[in-house]
Amino acid sequence: MWETVSFTLRLTRQLDMAAEGFDVVVVGSCMTDLVSQAPRLPKAGETIHGHKFFIGFGGKGANQCVQAARLGAKAAMVCKVGQDFFGENYIQNFKNNGIATEFVGQTAKAATGAASIIVNDAGENAIVIVAGANMLLGAEELRRAEPALGGAKVLICQLEISPDTSLQALSMARERQVRTIFNPAPAVPDLHPDFYRYSDVFCCNEPEAELLTGMAVGSVEDAGKVGAELLGRGCGSVIVTLGPQGCVVLSSQDPTPRHIATTTVTALDTTGAGDSFIGALAFYMADYPTMPLEEMARRANQVAAVSVQAVGTQTSYPFRKDLPKDLF
Ligand code: ADP
Repeated sequence: MWETVSFTLRLTRQLDMAAEGFDVVVVGSCMTDLVSQAPRLPKAGETIHGHKFFIGFGGKGANQCVQAARLGAKAAMVCKVGQDFFGENYIQNFKNNGIATEFVGQTAKAATGAASIIVNDAGENAIVIVAGANMLLGAEELRRAEPALGGAKVLICQLEISPDTSLQALSMARERQVRTIFNPAPAVPDLHPDFYRYSDVFCCNEPEAELLTGMAVGSVEDAGKVGAELLGRGCGSVIVTLGPQGCVVLSSQDPTPRHIATTTVTALDTTGAGDSFIGALAFYMADYPTMPLEEMARRANQVAAVSVQAVGTQTSYPFRKDLPKDLF
């Protein structure tokens, strides 16, 4: 009896949320970063003393969702964490950022995704990523999140969860006229062709573009060429991000590559800059649906340029209140 009541309450709540509608829904990963700083990287079998340890919130999906929410997007995360300390902690992190957590599942079958990172004094690192619970996000969770996903303005997906789950989410969004951003990261050489067809915006960085096309990207002009190749595979538009050089934008309506330069800043830590850019882009697509993509990319450049001037990943992502008014 109670289960029926509880289910009905849950369903009513979900329908309410669908009626309200989210600006941005992310179907993707979350990872806890366990970072140790040490004078050097240990050899196999060796134990060394480090001088600093900290825990950070990461995972491309979660990063993008956090940046969109910090700019003011009504955001929901569809992901899976473990029934463990890191999972609880991550759910709290979403809540602290004003992100809806109704579709964050918890499993006893795997641990929350984690990245064990060692950084030496030269800034080099060794990283082991265990995707864990992220890989268990699947069709059942998507079914449960369907009202939120179907009523969203923008969906973002990446490749840090099972590619089948990302593809299914993109296909659901396409059927329901939800605009999509697909970020093929980490890139795989043989991407299923539907990923291109289901992308309103296909957004990747230089190494990802190189892996996907087999073409080298050494200049803005090259980025335009790989962008054209990716556009030809069926995307609505393509953005190739170029670090301090900003990005290149092209679309099926306007296939001439446009270089959108960014402000020169002193970068302290560029980790997660691409996710800041994509989260910001999603916010602009949701809140300013008629704004030209080039202008959205120009503003997303500005947001990401702020993120590279502070240390950390999500810790470096700016809030709306800290940004110039002309970005809104
Ligand atoms: P990723 O983080 O995926 O490697 P990029 O390095 O291309 O992606 O950076 C994404 C975006 O972040 C760029 O398009 C740019 O807007 C911004 N960005 C990155 N590095 C810098 C930098 N050094 N100075 C200013 N903006 C930067």
